[in-house]
Amino acid sequence: MPFVLWPTNLGKKDVKLVGGKAANLAELINAGFPVPEAFFITAEAYEEFLKSNNLKEKILGIIKGIDYSDVNSLNNASEKIKTLIMEAEVPEEMKNQIIDAYKKLYGGPPVDLDFVKPIDMPFVAVRSSGVMEDIEKASSAGQYDTFLNVKGEKRLIEAIKKCWASLYTPRVIYYRHKHNQPQDTSIGVIVQRMINSEKSGVAFTIDPTNPVKGSKKIVIEACWGLGETLVQGKVEPDRYVVDKDTGEIIEKHIGKKSIETVRDIYGMTVVRNVNRDKVEAQVLSDYEIVALAAFCKKIEQHYNFPEDIEWAIERGKIYIVQTRAVTILEEKETREVKGTPVLEGYGASPGVATGVVKVIRDASEIWKIQKGDILVTKMTNPDFVVAMEKSAAIVTDEGGITSHAAIVSRELGVPCVIATKKATQVLKDGMKITVDATHGKIYPGEIEIKEEKAKAVEIKTKTQVKVNLAFPETAERAKHADGVGLLRLEHMLTKAGMHPIEYIRERKQEELIKIIVDGVGKVAQIFYPKQVWVRSLDARTDEFRNMKGGEKEPEEDNPMLGWHGIRRSLDEPEILKCELKALKQLHEKGLDNVVWELPFIISVSELRKAKEIAKEVGAPTNFGIMVETPAAALTIEDFCKEGIAFASFGSNDLTQTTLGIDRNNEKLIKIFDEMHPAMQFLFKHVIEICKKYNVESSICGELPSNRRDAVEFLVKTGIDSLSVNIDAIDKVREWVAEIEKSKN
Ligand code: PEP
Ligand code: MG
Repeated sequence: MPFVLWPTNLGKKDVKLVGGKAANLAELINAGFPVPEAFFITAEAYEEFLKSNNLKEKILGIIKGIDYSDVNSLNNASEKIKTLIMEAEVPEEMKNQIIDAYKKLYGGPPVDLDFVKPIDMPFVAVRSSGVMEDIEKASSAGQYDTFLNVKGEKRLIEAIKKCWASLYTPRVIYYRHKHNQPQDTSIGVIVQRMINSEKSGVAFTIDPTNPVKGSKKIVIEACWGLGETLVQGKVEPDRYVVDKDTGEIIEKHIGKKSIETVRDIYGMTVVRNVNRDKVEAQVLSDYEIVALAAFCKKIEQHYNFPEDIEWAIERGKIYIVQTRAVTILEEKETREVKGTPVLEGYGASPGVATGVVKVIRDASEIWKIQKGDILVTKMTNPDFVVAMEKSAAIVTDEGGITSHAAIVSRELGVPCVIATKKATQVLKDGMKITVDATHGKIYPGEIEIKEEKAKAVEIKTKTQVKVNLAFPETAERAKHADGVGLLRLEHMLTKAGMHPIEYIRERKQEELIKIIVDGVGKVAQIFYPKQVWVRSLDARTDEFRNMKGGEKEPEEDNPMLGWHGIRRSLDEPEILKCELKALKQLHEKGLDNVVWELPFIISVSELRKAKEIAKEVGAPTNFGIMVETPAAALTIEDFCKEGIAFASFGSNDLTQTTLGIDRNNEKLIKIFDEMHPAMQFLFKHVIEICKKYNVESSICGELPSNRRDAVEFLVKTGIDSLSVNIDAIDKVREWVAEIEKSKN
């Protein structure tokens, strides 16, 4: 029985035989397109594997026993099935056929001329190819697994078994259950020579922002290295538009590509910083753009339908890696789309909204914002919060991903595009615009943009996933998180319009204590008994200048590195005393899940002084600390010896202080790398020392909300919890679950 098939004679019709993805690939190869060499393991091979190990009934039995209201039950079932598959033997005859085919792949074109490795066995990509294609297309289910850079016979067999096992991830089992699809399904596997691409990306034979029939545009997106970086949205890719009829380039947008995924000399897939002069350089030469567009046009002609194509360039040669029909066409055909974006920036808080522009020059103008307007400003500050809550979307000239606008809008769930450079010049009061903050684009007029929302499956993970909050009002939406890893006090205190320090100046201590007790109390109640970590006031002197009393704040040359956090609280202990009196009251009310944490700390003596003040007011002294300086990170052992409740990385500040980069300077976004090797060193050091002293390690900066590679690094290094933005809880939980699984 042939368990292995070569693409010859196969085509689109052969989905049942080798799965949808493989059938499609065969079709492309046979049509003469430059596709990397591949062979397929049939769905029948998978069936035979189950049969010879008596697995089918066992697997279906385990699935039958799942209680879908209990995530643990789903996760455990998935785990059990995976173990069954991974521990079962692939029948000898099947193994021989696979290895034989793998050897034949050597006979193809030169594989890898890298002199460090012997040119014996090729690196291959091992891709799952399900026979029920709609699961692979559904973003909520995600695709079945793919394994890159697999080399050697043993690893190949293992990767194939992993592909088979990916038929039973919790996500996929749940998807089939929800959609009443049979759990008894099958899967093929593609084994394809791995392209070690210098450049790669996607192409659409239709404008994806305006996917109407008869579109005359081919849109190409490109990044450096392997395509993962682009597909996972980790870089802003180049975007080229080619006229389908004339073949001419009609638009070029050069993105910022700060990182790339590459294969290192050991065959590991690694993410690294892009060489500085390539970050803003054009990825494809004009010649390559035109040549690639010509291929794309031919592919569309072949299928007689608009296609979404993945491509790669290895040593100057273009390869087509995958292609699929653009299925959203009919749905989107009816929508009215007017033109191309007028502005682009960074999508800081995802979502889409249409509304009327109100340009706000400073806080005195915020009254202009009516419910549903689009707030356009240079950069928001705490005075803007009331207006931000009313806005349908927010667009700013400046700012980085950790700026005020970004943090607050994410929490409020308001779509926000930052760093457009010129929104306040280009957009005028009264203009109607549509903000697509998921992609960082602003369109004139009203357009309908269909949003894909991932349906989250509740997953329990060993590494806790907590949430960052600033407003008690949003706690309810976040209560499925494993606790609050950062409750910022600043926004809660400034909402009433007065600078926190002004309460002290005006002798309104009791009022200040009440605001804290009420605000924190609300969050603590919602989360009880899960912990709520409240960060002691950390306001920079320039941040609240517009508030009542803010004008009295001292002028500093470098407020970011200035008089804020615990250093200021010890100089002016009155506010800290109020905070700790509030903490005492909260514990007295039974809300003993509240713990205070000290920001921007650099020495154990600061911790000791804070403990003294806590003792003075009768409050608990078990503080957590924020690790936001190399000083705190490198002396973490001293803090652990002194006694701390936890250590939480403030990665926004830790990056700033470690790399010497002003975190608010948008010119430096491209080198603001929270995963710089120096950061990795500090992360590892702190996590390991904390483990030794049984102190919980955590992170509450922006990093884990945005970068899967960072989550992977932190989880694998052994961090105890991650605290993320409200809209990232489900996504990060899924990441953590996958990573924890692969760790075992
Ligand atoms: C940080 O520095 O990472 C942090 C969480 O604090 P903030 O962003 O409020 O400075
Ligand atoms: Mg900080």
